[in-house]
Amino acid sequence: MKLKIAIQKQGKLAEGSTALLKKCGIGFSNGQGKLRAEAEDFPLELFFLRDDDIPDYVADGVADLGIVGENILAEDPKPVDVVEKLGFGRCRLSIAVPKSFKYSDTADLNGLRIATSYPRILSEFLAARTVSAEIHEISGSVEIAPSIGLADAVCDLVSSGSTLFSNGLREIETVLRSEAVLIARRDLSAEQNKLLEQFLFRIRSVLAAERNKYILLNAPEDKVAEIASLLPGIKSPTVMPLAEPGWVSLHSVISEHDFWEVVENLKAAGAEGILVLSIDQMIK
Ligand code: ATP
Ligand code: MG
Repeated sequence: MKLKIAIQKQGKLAEGSTALLKKCGIGFSNGQGKLRAEAEDFPLELFFLRDDDIPDYVADGVADLGIVGENILAEDPKPVDVVEKLGFGRCRLSIAVPKSFKYSDTADLNGLRIATSYPRILSEFLAARTVSAEIHEISGSVEIAPSIGLADAVCDLVSSGSTLFSNGLREIETVLRSEAVLIARRDLSAEQNKLLEQFLFRIRSVLAAERNKYILLNAPEDKVAEIASLLPGIKSPTVMPLAEPGWVSLHSVISEHDFWEVVENLKAAGAEGILVLSIDQMIK
């Protein structure tokens, strides 16, 4: 018994998807142009596909699982379960106009021709704001549409914004935020569900580890209580004596989110020799 997972063959989610599997201890070798592979250390078979096709393959039961951007599902919903957000492939679907366009609010979009590969999401966004614009559906290179006279504005996926910028466009509205998600077929057998749980356990350990850092620091003994109160670790920090009398070493885990603020406070409280390490897995 095995689970079949569909991931993007090539493109913006391909690297993140294989990296996640590798961090879960699931290795495989996919030679150039190969469309399927057998995982080495987990009962998993991999299919390498175009991202747009992944929800269909999962809904049809050709694959049991898939990794795909939320944007794809929002544009073309399929009967699959979203099991976990994966924290990579973050992007937003945004409306952009030529830099010279004077924009103040969505009413300014009335009557414009907007080029997009996401007609459904865009038309819902416009309808909710009672904007009537002409949607031109194109399947790729959306960002060049205004410069070739095909449209007045675009609605496209953005991450850094550099592609828009180099095409003379300016982002004015965020329509949707998206990241990669793990999707699953709705009618998995009990046995397959058990495998999915094992797979999810690994994924969640990797994601938790990515959100946290391991921190070690030295402190005078009389500052331990104050410093410990600044470290919201899993439990209380580990305290170990240093060879130098009156000094200890503290170890703990902190969230990457409040990392910089905590480090500032730790230094102010007398911590020295602060070391911060990344964590491979965090088992809860
Ligand atoms: P395919 O050949 O598989 O159909 P594609 O060209 O449609 O690939 P990519 O550009 O590789 O797709 O993007 C795949 C997914 O990566 C998007 O659907 C989106 O979820 C995510 N993504 C993250 N950042 C960006 C970005 N800056 N631009 C486009 N997509 C992004
Ligand atoms: Mg695609």
